[in-house]
Amino acid sequence: MSARRPLIAGNWKMYRTQAEAAALVTALCQRLPAQPAAEVLVLPPFTALAAVAQALASESRVALGAQNCHWAKEGAYTGEVSPWMLLDVGCTYVLAGHSERRQLFGETDALVNKRARGALAAGLKPIVCIGETLQERDAGRTLSVVASQLAGSLAGVSAEEMAHVTLAYEPVWAIGTGRNATPAQAQEVHAQVREDLGRLFGAAAALATRILYGGSVKPDNAAALLGQMDVDGALVGGASLDAAGFATICAAV
Ligand code: PEP
Repeated sequence: MSARRPLIAGNWKMYRTQAEAAALVTALCQRLPAQPAAEVLVLPPFTALAAVAQALASESRVALGAQNCHWAKEGAYTGEVSPWMLLDVGCTYVLAGHSERRQLFGETDALVNKRARGALAAGLKPIVCIGETLQERDAGRTLSVVASQLAGSLAGVSAEEMAHVTLAYEPVWAIGTGRNATPAQAQEVHAQVREDLGRLFGAAAALATRILYGGSVKPDNAAALLGQMDVDGALVGGASLDAAGFATICAAV
C-alpha cells in the first residue's frame, strides 16, 4: 500500500473558450463524490484560467493548474507567462516539459529544468513530464532516455523541493493516439523512475514522489493502469474534455 495520494490531472490542451471551460469544470464537479479518493486537477489553456478559477471559487475538490510557464517573475518575454501570474490567477500546479512542448516546440531538458525550477521558486508545484518516442522504444532505449530526461529536467532541484514535484511518464507514442502503454509497460518504467529518483534524491524522496502515467488514459483502461504499484495517478488529455468520462477516471483510483 502506498501513502501517495493519487492525482488525476486533466490536460485540456488548446481546447475550450472561457464559457466552455467554466461549463466543463462545473459539469465535472457535479459528477464528483463529496470526497474524491484522488486529488483532482484541471489544466485549462491560459485564456480560460480565470473563468475556471471563478467557477471553482467555492469548490475544494478540484485544483487548478496551467500547461506551461516561464521562470522569471516578470520581464520582456513576449508570449510567455510567469509562474507568479499563474499563482495570482489561482493555480497551484503547472506542467513542465509536456511532450507536445518537447516535440512541437523544441523544448530541451535544460529549458524544462528552468521552467520547473521557476515554478518551484514561485511556490507552484510542477508536474515534470518525461517519455520516450516510438523509435527510442523500438531501439530498446526507453529506460535510458527516461533516466536522462529525469536527471536533466530535475538538475539542481533539492531533495526538499522534490516534496512539491510530481512526475508524469508519458510515452510519446501513446499521447493522443488511442494506443496506451500496457499496465506492465507503465509499471516497468515507473519502477525504474522511482529507482532513479532514489539515486538522485534519496530513498525517502523517491518513495514520496508521485509518478503519474499519461497516454490515452480512458474510462475503460484507467483502473488497470492505476492499479499498478508505482502508478500514482494519471495525466489525461483527450478524455478529460468529457466531464462524465473524466469523473469515471477519477473514481478508478
Ligand atoms: C496528455 O495530453 O498529456 C495526454 C496524455 O493526452 P491523451 O490522454 O489524449 O493521450
